[in-house]
Amino acid sequence: TDPEMIRNFCIIAHIDHGKSTLADRMLQLTGVVQPRQMKAQYLDRMDIERERGITIKSQAVRMPWEHAEDTYAFHMIDTPGHVDFSYEVSRSLDACEGALLLVDAAQGIEAQTLANLYLAMEHDLVIIPVLNKIDLPAAMPDKYAAEIAGLIGCEPEEVLRVSGKTGEGVEELLDRIVEEVPAPEGDAEAPARAMIFDSVYDTYRGVVTFVRVVDGSLGHREKIRMMSTGATHELLEIGVSQPEPKPTQGLGIGEVGYLITGVKDVRQSKVGDTVTSQARPADELIRGYQEPRPMVFSGLFPIDGSEFPVLREALEKLQLNDAALNFEPETSTALGFGFRVGFLGLLHLEITRERLEQEYNLELISTAPNVVYEVTDESGETHQVTNPSEFPEGKIADIREPIVDATVIVPAEFIGPVMELCQSRRGAMQGMDYLSEERVEIRYSMPLAEIVFDFFDNLKSRTKGYASLNWQGTGEQSADLVKVDILLQGDKVDAFSAITHRDQAYDYGVKMASKLKDLIPRQQFEVPVQAAIGSRIIARENIRAIRKDVLSKCYGGDISRKRKLLEKQKEGKKRMKMVGTVEVPQEAFITALSSE
Ligand code: GDP
Ligand code: MG
Repeated sequence: TDPEMIRNFCIIAHIDHGKSTLADRMLQLTGVVQPRQMKAQYLDRMDIERERGITIKSQAVRMPWEHAEDTYAFHMIDTPGHVDFSYEVSRSLDACEGALLLVDAAQGIEAQTLANLYLAMEHDLVIIPVLNKIDLPAAMPDKYAAEIAGLIGCEPEEVLRVSGKTGEGVEELLDRIVEEVPAPEGDAEAPARAMIFDSVYDTYRGVVTFVRVVDGSLGHREKIRMMSTGATHELLEIGVSQPEPKPTQGLGIGEVGYLITGVKDVRQSKVGDTVTSQARPADELIRGYQEPRPMVFSGLFPIDGSEFPVLREALEKLQLNDAALNFEPETSTALGFGFRVGFLGLLHLEITRERLEQEYNLELISTAPNVVYEVTDESGETHQVTNPSEFPEGKIADIREPIVDATVIVPAEFIGPVMELCQSRRGAMQGMDYLSEERVEIRYSMPLAEIVFDFFDNLKSRTKGYASLNWQGTGEQSADLVKVDILLQGDKVDAFSAITHRDQAYDYGVKMASKLKDLIPRQQFEVPVQAAIGSRIIARENIRAIRKDVLSKCYGGDISRKRKLLEKQKEGKKRMKMVGTVEVPQEAFITALSSE
């Protein structure tokens, strides 16, 4: 295809502002999906995406569009909307020349809209501002057009008004794409270079790699080379998504499509890498390649210890489709055999856990997630600590923790509660801007560890659900952190060790000690439950002698949970773990780890 006739764009939007629905209308209007095949959120294929209503893996669709008697080829690249996947978002933006900035006409700009807008601007994309859902009675298009115009520096009249639901304004939008998004440019004579912006595992076809060609071209049956690793593969199939895969003879400058080489593991075809031709390789990657870096770690343990091999197999299978997932075996005295798993963020963790439970029928316990610390001991040696158990013993010279820039957008009446929350999470205010008279953007620099736990839930409840949040890693910073251990009868219970700020160590210790006191049944002898920093005890409770039933102490009236516990208890002593001389029912661990 002549690059002049190609337009590559993505849609950036806050979650629920209607990206998938608008994409559906475009598929219909351009005729690539017939009305009777149409189902809502056509492109969100993975079940888990459908359930959660979020797009995790990006997709690229080719659509024809007639404009002024010419036929153009559009490639619409669907980007993941969540901060956990910011590296993938950034690679998807690299594949585009333009971005539709989609804003819900009843909601206005939200934190993710802003974050993605800034990213798109960094990538020099042409921005087309669009207000969506204008059919809603609650829509306030004039108000939000002014907000958008103020933000990106255009006239309010230039903000398009559409409804993904009714289709109103969508044809006009497609014409604007032809007129405003620049055609791709590249060197047709140069050695082939194509950038990988997505890579998915398909049970039948192996890995399907999505690329955008920058220079030269790639052809059917050609031998290709992955530039970051030097690995070579034969192209078994090359084609475009319409959105069903359609094989072609090749892909040229500016074209977006897929490659199939028969490899079985997405780590052999990495997002961000450059594909070149083996016969005439390019010298330089399109952009420096970055390995995905896990930000949050958690231990995953099967409740039934005999399921350890199933868990291993399940993680290996998920890894085929998720280059960012990494894990290694871990043994815990309290929880038995499991894995230490690294994730891009909390959503990534939740999705993975949900898939393990749903698709592989595993029942899991997970330890409290923690971020990665850089700990320098007295001798000057630096350790990457992804697990509290790796925290060096003895004197510590320095501890560094990851820091993020967090942006919160809220109605002005909630400024107070938001600042209070951020301050209590060790945040340092960076600035505040009014988007309009009643809405503000508040910026804080904060430790990632303070955000990954229950920050968002807390923020939502303090702002009646109005706040939106986004953040971006900015590096590491020294902090006064300590490791708190929990001891039963003087023995450490590894699953409860945590790295916290010194000021929060006492609270954590008291909370865990009193929780365990309530959860662990009385033994034949008195059992002290203690919290300690090193050898210094900071909290203590006693479990008095004499047995007691575990259920009578299990708070709350959740019948199904109680029934589950009862069933578990019937299995008897098998489910008891010994910590030193203390018998602890496994449920005590589960409950202590799961409830806030
Ligand atoms: P996404 O998260 O940005 O992909 O948003 P979706 O496309 O999944 O839409 C989120 C919700 O908004 C769904 O319930 C849609 O039916 C609804 N929605 C999307 N576009 C429109 C629209 O133009 N008008 C109305 N009334 N609802 C819409
Ligand atoms: Mg969606």
